[in-house]
Amino acid sequence: MEYTTLGASDVSVSRLCIGSLTVSPVQANLPPERAAEVLAYAFSRGVSFTDTAQYYENYPLIRRALALYKGDDVVISTKTYAYTREMAIEAVEEARRELNRDVIDIFMLHEQESYETLRGHREALEYLFECKAKGIIRAVGASMHHVSAVEGVIELARRGVTLDVIHPIFNRGGYGIADGTIDDMQSAVSRAHDLGIGVFAMKVLGGGHLFREASEAFDFALSKPYIDAIAVGMQSEAEIDANIAYFETRLFPDAAKAALSEKTRRLHIEDYCEGCGACVSRCAQGALSVIDGHASVDMEKCVLCGYCSRVCPLFAIKVL
Ligand code: SF4
Ligand code: SF4
Repeated sequence: MEYTTLGASDVSVSRLCIGSLTVSPVQANLPPERAAEVLAYAFSRGVSFTDTAQYYENYPLIRRALALYKGDDVVISTKTYAYTREMAIEAVEEARRELNRDVIDIFMLHEQESYETLRGHREALEYLFECKAKGIIRAVGASMHHVSAVEGVIELARRGVTLDVIHPIFNRGGYGIADGTIDDMQSAVSRAHDLGIGVFAMKVLGGGHLFREASEAFDFALSKPYIDAIAVGMQSEAEIDANIAYFETRLFPDAAKAALSEKTRRLHIEDYCEGCGACVSRCAQGALSVIDGHASVDMEKCVLCGYCSRVCPLFAIKVL
């Protein structure tokens, strides 16, 4: 496994990061002990980097996986929608308590959209930097589906506040980029990286759209000198082995190639959806609409993040 440092920070990680949402209840619906085993297996194979969020409500799962693994070298990145100081204090304390860690490696603002939204989260950001100064957080960052948010991070740096890390959506098809093309995203991300900001990309497989061309999709991201690491959702030991093999040799084993060519993921909306529209408001991709009293998804726009399922009062949405 290749290891790297995120930008100018002191955080060293495996280039392959295991996203923890994919094994969490809103997506895989694996029993918690099984989900923890999958994460622990990745850690034991040298994947020393995992990504979570306050919104995912899966800190206990990661804690369980760390207890199974037993090592202490796993870097955890989390993120929060907090925008006030009080909310940020609560978010940091929740992470420290539930992950059983005094120090959180990476703490980010979740789903930033622009310089304006970053400014709107100023209080929370200031608190995260205070925690960094006290040694409670090692790196401060932001995640985003918008090119304008990366531009906003660059503008913040120009004004003297340089984030340590960004976590942008990044894939060769441009799937899920909310306000531009992959060329726009590449330009912004490379300029951010030039400022010493570490980059770990998400949705490199386009939320499933690029499974059939996974080699090309990974190559696209791995070949960029400004992409330090890549977060990938993985649901089984076989998938972990296949991705590790790819990161190490740039080749998938034959069995993995066959599995990937058949692999599909989709958003399933149950017939008992009542068309309340809560999921439509939650989807930043504009992939959902209510048609004739029932939610409907445009799979060309959906990146299978699963965020909509969290807000459905009837639990009518699942990522399968
Ligand atoms: S939130 Fe649930 S019930 Fe409401 S429209 Fe969406 S799927 Fe249907
Ligand atoms: S429809 Fe749901 S899973 Fe798809 S992008 Fe929107 S919020 Fe994410």
